[in-house]
Amino acid sequence: MSTLDANWFTEIHADAGSAFSLRIRKKLVDEQTPYQRIEVFETTDFGNFMVIDGCTMVSARENFIYHEMMTHPVLYTHAAPKNVVIVGGGDCGTLREVLRHPEVESVVQVEIDERVTRLAEQYFPELCELNDDSRATLIFGDGIQWMKDAARESLDVVIIDSTDPIGPAEGLFSQPFYEDCLRALRPGGMIVQQSESPLLHPHILRAMHSAMRSAGYADVKTLQFPQMIYPSGWWSATIARKGEKIAGLREAGVVAKPFETRYYTADIHRAAFVLPAFLQQALAQ
Ligand code: SAM
Repeated sequence: MSTLDANWFTEIHADAGSAFSLRIRKKLVDEQTPYQRIEVFETTDFGNFMVIDGCTMVSARENFIYHEMMTHPVLYTHAAPKNVVIVGGGDCGTLREVLRHPEVESVVQVEIDERVTRLAEQYFPELCELNDDSRATLIFGDGIQWMKDAARESLDVVIIDSTDPIGPAEGLFSQPFYEDCLRALRPGGMIVQQSESPLLHPHILRAMHSAMRSAGYADVKTLQFPQMIYPSGWWSATIARKGEKIAGLREAGVVAKPFETRYYTADIHRAAFVLPAFLQQALAQ
């Protein structure tokens, strides 16, 4: 639920009894697509800012933390990630970070709502700057169906960069979907999924861990990071691996990486997997 005062956008998190606001100059877009309502605002201090169905999605100023943490930990854990799929990710920030890895040979992005990407091209061009990379394929369709049809053992990493587990994204947080991903992954392959707030949503995290383990993944680990514009400002991603433990940070690769990051480092990688006591207990239940 959101409200738009004279010069503030506010997302009210009714379940959490909290809210988040950004000061805005003007609304640039308000479009109802077949899937969701997309709004884009110009803010006074955070650049352009996208909202989907009243939920904050991405701002120009701080999205680097989320996009770096949804990509580099899993890609620097895999020994040699070649074929990557992104489910969701319509703003293309995740796609850009994946394409920075020269060892990646192909990235397919399956986004259900083409308008998210077309509006991102217009209002977040910096996130779309690698969209024309010859390794990238943008598909507009349901990621759930796409994964059902994916070839067995054809992928190294699946990044599930979706909206919250409601509406078209709900099925992306389910055991059948995780099973389809598992079948499509090569041995040692991993999925990484945005997994909501450690503080507000431990129950969602617990359900995800349970569904991933029931789907047959050998190991499941959550990493946490700041994410200012999302409920609580504290976010997470959960990695599940086929056939082996989630270990083996390619530290030399991180140190020698041929691109800059503004948040991710090898130390951040290790620290992100250190979870607070309450969350460890919640996930151990
Ligand atoms: N949290 C991200 C960030 O900060 O950059 C934003 C991710 S992106 C905007 C989330 C996308 O998931 C939306 O564009 C939505 O259309 C897409 N999505 C939701 N359900 C989907 C599905 N079943 N298949 C493919 N894409 C889906």
